[in-house]
Amino acid sequence: KELQVAIDGPASAGKSTVAKKIAHRFKYVYCDTGAMYRTVTLKAMRENVALDDPEALAKMLTKTEITFKPGNPEQLVFLDGQEVTMAIRQPDVTNNVSTVAAQGTVRADLTNRQRQIAEAGGIVMDGRDIGTSVLPDAEVKIFLVASVEERAQRRFKDNAEKGIHTPIETLKKEIETRDHKDSTRAISPLTQAKDAIRLDTTALSIDEVVAKISDIIVQ
Ligand code: C5P
Repeated sequence: KELQVAIDGPASAGKSTVAKKIAHRFKYVYCDTGAMYRTVTLKAMRENVALDDPEALAKMLTKTEITFKPGNPEQLVFLDGQEVTMAIRQPDVTNNVSTVAAQGTVRADLTNRQRQIAEAGGIVMDGRDIGTSVLPDAEVKIFLVASVEERAQRRFKDNAEKGIHTPIETLKKEIETRDHKDSTRAISPLTQAKDAIRLDTTALSIDEVVAKISDIIVQ
């Protein structure tokens, strides 16, 4: 059976790395919902749309197309036909995305798009509110956590490979600020679904996490 697999958790807990590998193993589609919120944020910044104006953002979204294409190693992200895979990972987008993601109009619009993508099953979707709000009936719900120190370390290593050298302490603060905003917003805040399985990945390798989730899927 083609299942819906929801993977949620705080920033830099390894969700997308793990979700991609699970999707590959089960020949499921992978959907990175964080990339969708980032893409909306990038467009708003480029078009000088106020990041906390729900009506203006809703209007912008009526003429916004977000698409994914398979790519190696990264899935490619397109905004209105233009590739933005790297642009949406820039620090200014990262630091603004929680403001945009707190707007109800944006959440309603992207949640609709995400449900359409997941409709047929055979999907691994990662984000903050997949198990609680986007796909409340998903057969498999995982909540990935890791200590903030470990998450900052992982981000530091990822950054180093891209030639970015933000100090660990700064990364730690950025992660904590974003988690706080995502956990305290009014609509669909970051929280573990009651029926989700919590996995602490602090002391686990990526392959160990993938193995644990794969076992849960085939059960
Ligand atoms: O997963 P990623 O770190 O790329 O997500 C970027 C931001 O998008 C999160 O910090 C959060 O503000 C928002 N987001 C969300 N709901 C989701 C996925 C992401 O609010 N399902």
